[in-house]
Amino acid sequence: MRLELFLLVTVAIYAAAKPLSKAAGTRNKLLLISFDGFRWDYDHDVDTPNLDQLLVDGVKAKYITPPMLTMTAPSHFTTITGRWVEDHEVVHNMMFNATTNLKVPYKKTLTKSKWWDNGVLPLWITAQNQGLKTGSFYFPGGGVTYGGQAVNKAIVEMSGHPDDNETEWRHNIDRVMSWFSDENFNLVTLYYGEPDNVGHAKGPDHPDRKVIIKQIDRTIGYLREAIVRHHLTDKLNVIITSDHGMTTVKKRPQVDEIILNKYLNLLKLASFEILDYGGFGILTPRPGKEQEVFNALSNAPNLTVYKKNEIPESFHLAKSERLPPIVIVADLGFNLNSRFIVYVNKGDHGYHNREMDMKTIFWAFGPDFKKNFLSEPFDSIHIYPLMCKLLQIEPAPHNGSLSVTENLNNCVLSAGGPPGARLSALLLMLVLLSVLAQL
Ligand SMILES: [Zn+2]
Repeated sequence: MRLELFLLVTVAIYAAAKPLSKAAGTRNKLLLISFDGFRWDYDHDVDTPNLDQLLVDGVKAKYITPPMLTMTAPSHFTTITGRWVEDHEVVHNMMFNATTNLKVPYKKTLTKSKWWDNGVLPLWITAQNQGLKTGSFYFPGGGVTYGGQAVNKAIVEMSGHPDDNETEWRHNIDRVMSWFSDENFNLVTLYYGEPDNVGHAKGPDHPDRKVIIKQIDRTIGYLREAIVRHHLTDKLNVIITSDHGMTTVKKRPQVDEIILNKYLNLLKLASFEILDYGGFGILTPRPGKEQEVFNALSNAPNLTVYKKNEIPESFHLAKSERLPPIVIVADLGFNLNSRFIVYVNKGDHGYHNREMDMKTIFWAFGPDFKKNFLSEPFDSIHIYPLMCKLLQIEPAPHNGSLSVTENLNNCVLSAGGPPGARLSALLLMLVLLSVLAQL
């Protein structure tokens, strides 16, 4: 009788513990792809068979919400670190020093660590520190060092590099696939500069936007074929996402465009400014002029002005040391012109992340993802812990939550779970054995 009970308990514990050890033993690879400026609904009015198939074979979110501020460098760095912008301090696409008035455009910072390495470790480095091999192909932040440590293999996009060459897009996929299959990389991040460029130059409603979405769709089809060709179907998880959406810039005669110098003398009142850059502006008032600047901007139409220490909690910007004391967010579609209208973009971003036009995409497929699952929207900050879970690594401190994405995947365990779960099973067995010994 006691022996039968013992066997029953042993089998029950073994059965309970089995899926844990199986999950812990299978570490699949991860490819993160970002298509810059892919608004959440860009595929709704274009024939996209390959993107549609991603939902059949995997998961899709109705949309995802990028962090404030909705620009390439800050948003990508939130995705790859799981930290809010106020923590990782990549606070604009135009990197700057408000004291020296130095301004460096995003593409000129791609190999300069001082703009990216502010003490927060991105996923590549955290994964490498736990024995994984990682690579970055054009991904924002991938080309610099963090605490002196570089990404194992990083290819950096040069200024002026054409973003829309479909042949090169395919070539880049082939190279990344060989990193996985021939060089045994665990994590690669791959970045494409479209459809952002077309969205800026022509506007999101222009027919050329549909043309570039079709090109992206063909590229996804090519990716699926390449995964099969490299025998990675059962080993590679893929996440496809983006950094922000795009909206049509409002111009005369449709609206009265904002010219900030009408409301305050910028030269006299501000010592530093980044304006004429879409819907998001920053400035440093001259000493003692903060209230005057704030009052003047409060009277300007079609924008909201914030003192840094009064920025809404939901922006997750207020704690930033790099951010200047005054932040301006224009109403959707308005550009913050400083003195003249020199602005040529027909589409832009940088607006409030609650605006539907700023929402962006999320698809995922691979051995650890469910099939045919349409997820409710979530914030892009939660992608980071999901990636750590898929790679079975211990995440660095982050602001995301695994519970938000738990519906998307088949993984039984969270990162760091296997040892703890096995220990619990062992303790349970010891307790039961001691009970049995007393029977
Ligand atoms: Zn852009």
